[in-house]
Amino acid sequence: MVDITENLAEVRARMAAAATAAARSPEDVALVAVSKVQPAEAVEQALAAGQRVFGENRVQEAKAKFPALRAVHPDLRLHLIGPLQTNKVKEALALFDVIETLDRPKLARALAKEAEKSGHSPDCFIQVNTGEEPQKAGIMPRDADAFIADCRDQGLNVKGLMCIPPVDEAAALHFAFLREIARRNSTPDAPLALSMGMSGDYETAIRFGADLVRVGTGVFGPRPVKPAA
Ligand SMILES: *Cc1c(COP(=O)(O)O)cnc(C)c1O
Repeated sequence: MVDITENLAEVRARMAAAATAAARSPEDVALVAVSKVQPAEAVEQALAAGQRVFGENRVQEAKAKFPALRAVHPDLRLHLIGPLQTNKVKEALALFDVIETLDRPKLARALAKEAEKSGHSPDCFIQVNTGEEPQKAGIMPRDADAFIADCRDQGLNVKGLMCIPPVDEAAALHFAFLREIARRNSTPDAPLALSMGMSGDYETAIRFGADLVRVGTGVFGPRPVKPAA
């Protein structure tokens, strides 16, 4: 049996210790509990333990799980952490408070257009493909500065940058790289936050300045094998 309450307490304690060790305030680092593939009951347990911010990687799955939970917990916040197809933008804006995977110009245009139409502009993080992996989403690092400027010009609320380091490389290098891209594109009026760090490396990410860490298995235990959809 996975004890989600106990796991959450452990993750929060480790996050706080990592923040303190890095001379940062523990309150400055937020936990996004990644509930993809987990049943709604698991999210309910996390909610009962005080967790309010969740991450999902698929629009359809979020739509099946979260409206009912949100009705009971209006202060719940949902982040999209998986790729977003432009034909799902409208649905995504109705479901998610934060889009962490703004990764290409076409999506930026679709988000800006829908935001204007609906009068609701979501907070966005730009996903950077720091490892330049062909199979991975994200804007290439060499295109990041121009893309950030372009998203801002379109009126999108660019809150920060997000990355998923290659599995076989030292995550710290990628965290430092993302931090540098954020630093040079931040202004006093528009600072860029960092979404980086998963179950295996969130303490390292906090050391490198993560403002959000996205932890799935560390909170919910191993993901169930997904039933064929
Ligand atoms: C699944 C996922 C996570 C969480 O991964 P864990 O290793 O289970 O903590 C974080 N970020 C993204 C983008 C993911 O897809």
